[in-house]
Amino acid sequence: MTGFTPAPSSADLGVYGLGVMGANLARNLARHGHAVAVYNRTTARTERLMDNHAAEGEFVPAADLADFVASLRSPRVAIIMVQAGAGTEEAIGQLAELMEPGDIIVDAGNTLYTDTRRREEALRDRGIHFVGMGVSGGEEGALLGPSIMPGGTEESYQRLGPMLESISARADDGAPCCTHVGPDGAGHFVKMVHNGIEYADMQLIAEAYDLLRHVGGLSVAEIAEVFRSWKDSELDSYLIDVTTEVLSRTDPATGQPFVDVIVDAAGQKGTGVWTTQTALELGVAVPAIAEATFARAASSSADARAAVRGASIELGASQDAPLAGVEREAFIEAVRQALYGSKIAAYAQGFDEIATASAQYGWNIDLGAMATIWRAGCIIRARFLEDITRAYAQEPELASLLTAPVFSAALAGALPAWRQVVATSALTGVPAPAFAASLAYVDQLRAERLPAALIQGQRDFFGSHTYHRVDDPTGVYHTLWSTPERAEEKWN
Ligand code: NAP
Repeated sequence: MTGFTPAPSSADLGVYGLGVMGANLARNLARHGHAVAVYNRTTARTERLMDNHAAEGEFVPAADLADFVASLRSPRVAIIMVQAGAGTEEAIGQLAELMEPGDIIVDAGNTLYTDTRRREEALRDRGIHFVGMGVSGGEEGALLGPSIMPGGTEESYQRLGPMLESISARADDGAPCCTHVGPDGAGHFVKMVHNGIEYADMQLIAEAYDLLRHVGGLSVAEIAEVFRSWKDSELDSYLIDVTTEVLSRTDPATGQPFVDVIVDAAGQKGTGVWTTQTALELGVAVPAIAEATFARAASSSADARAAVRGASIELGASQDAPLAGVEREAFIEAVRQALYGSKIAAYAQGFDEIATASAQYGWNIDLGAMATIWRAGCIIRARFLEDITRAYAQEPELASLLTAPVFSAALAGALPAWRQVVATSALTGVPAPAFAASLAYVDQLRAERLPAALIQGQRDFFGSHTYHRVDDPTGVYHTLWSTPERAEEKWN
């Protein structure tokens, strides 16, 4: 047994789970003047936190969960930051047994929003507020200021908000990167889409790198400098900074560019898959996010890659020689334009997914506020989010980000170069699936007519699935395809 003897009702809130994220979140809270109760299943972690960081603020350590709960002042707030899935389920169950009506349990891990909705409903019946809360920024963000996306009731936010806003990142204008997203699973939903956008952003940057290297003929060091120079453009973002750092590094063991000694198989923990699956269920098109998720899967399909490489399939045209001079400079600029256009398309898809879910679940999410709280602290923080914030401030009911004047003008400027880059990718065999999917997304949305009319004809032909007519858009029609004399019937 440890010597922890937490005084009852002495802590403002508590953190359950002192892994990297939980410990850093607890320290951030303590550093901002909040008395933080801390508990971990394995007490050694609690002891380690106290040994190393007790001086940073007021901690109330507990070795026993009942003592931890008793140390929280009422209405109690316990933030769970444990392993997603089974660990979180277990922790919620244990806490719920010890909490009272009016208390607040916060799940700060990455949880699928449908699980959050289910848990919120079950705990609401017992009078306990359950808050699914997205936290972005990795371990450094948790300590120094993350972007925080809490869901749950308004009432719970009144208790939680001031504490969370005090520890969140701050945008350049001083605004906290934390706001009440909406009821039940809204916070976890927005965090999920944030991660989906992150997947798309990373894939688009990776495609730009690949094209610059294998079509443009630039060295890794030269590409690092290109990315560094893009900091002075609309592309300025944390992920561009990260990319520059990775590409600038040389492997000390071999002297090669570091990127060349990393196995080219991208891992994933599931939020990209969730964002894509959820979009499919909601009927929202998120092709850039989906392609980014598929690209990670394709990269990790080692057997299939080896087999197809070994089969020596004739791949057709490829780049004859690296570009040089003016042509090379023009290509670099074209890739930048393609990256910017694709990025606008990817964010438009993510915001569309949030808007669709918000309407379906009655969450009433303020899309502009989401852009506002992503401006600092999180992985997708970028200058670009200032433009999104302004776009929603000017027109809160934007049907698509693509229609905001700042972005429609940018797209018009980027499209010619973007088309060239996608065509070059196809002709040279250097794959750029997210560039291509993003371009097709824009072209689909701007098309006067889509071949969906033909698909409706096909569906009606083989399955009597009916269609609407352009001269009667609400009427439901079916054609008797085998009886030309009575070709069409109106069913409704
Ligand atoms: P982690 O490795 O995912 O989890 C470790 C913590 O979970 C330890 O405190 C562990 O306790 C506890 N735990 C595991 N199973 C448990 C159980 N059945 N009952 C009680 N506690 C249990 O740690 P992490 O990386 O700090 O992540 C925590 C959460 O934050 C996850 O949901 C993750 O998805 C989310 N998240 C992580 C990041 C990141 O950058 N790492 C960013 C955003 C969100 P013991 O010490 O007893 O084993």
